[in-house]
Amino acid sequence: MINILEAASNLYHSNLDLKNFAKWPDDLVNSNLPPKMIPAAKLVENFPLSGTTETNPLIEAIKANVNLMHWKRTYTEEEVGHDLYNRYGYCELFGPEGHFSSTQLRGFLGYWGNGLDYDWHSHEAEEIYLNLGGNAIFRTKEEEILLNPNETKMHYRLQSHSMITHKEAILTFVLWRGKGMFGLPKMD
Ligand code: ZN
Repeated sequence: MINILEAASNLYHSNLDLKNFAKWPDDLVNSNLPPKMIPAAKLVENFPLSGTTETNPLIEAIKANVNLMHWKRTYTEEEVGHDLYNRYGYCELFGPEGHFSSTQLRGFLGYWGNGLDYDWHSHEAEEIYLNLGGNAIFRTKEEEILLNPNETKMHYRLQSHSMITHKEAILTFVLWRGKGMFGLPKMD
């Protein structure tokens, strides 16, 4: 997992939006989380190297270490439906329950397969998405944008947002800061 953390750190330090969002945590301690597989992990292993020169090293590190990652799903199948439930997942790289513990910042690696509608949801923590590869439409009540690799999208405290993938899947690096950092998203 250290390879993934190093690639994530390199990417963070190359990206002004992420650097402006929060300081890189200096309290990281390896928590030796055991691997946990879900169906989407297999899809991540076969994710195309569809990022940029900045983001591809992290995509490669993730693909090479999929089997060491502790994959999770926030929602139940009843909440999001069978298809999304089986073609999405995330891993907490660092944070209160991450591979590397931190109480300063939370960093997730999130994957969604192609042709999925991740419906309106929200959370208390402030959030920034960095698209690593593939793409998706990111929606808030104010705007709707196509997020390309190495582009970021921020969500404010309790701001409703949703995401749609079309032809391509998407792999993302997501940071959470501030009040509610220890919580989880809820469907609206
Ligand atoms: Zn969010």
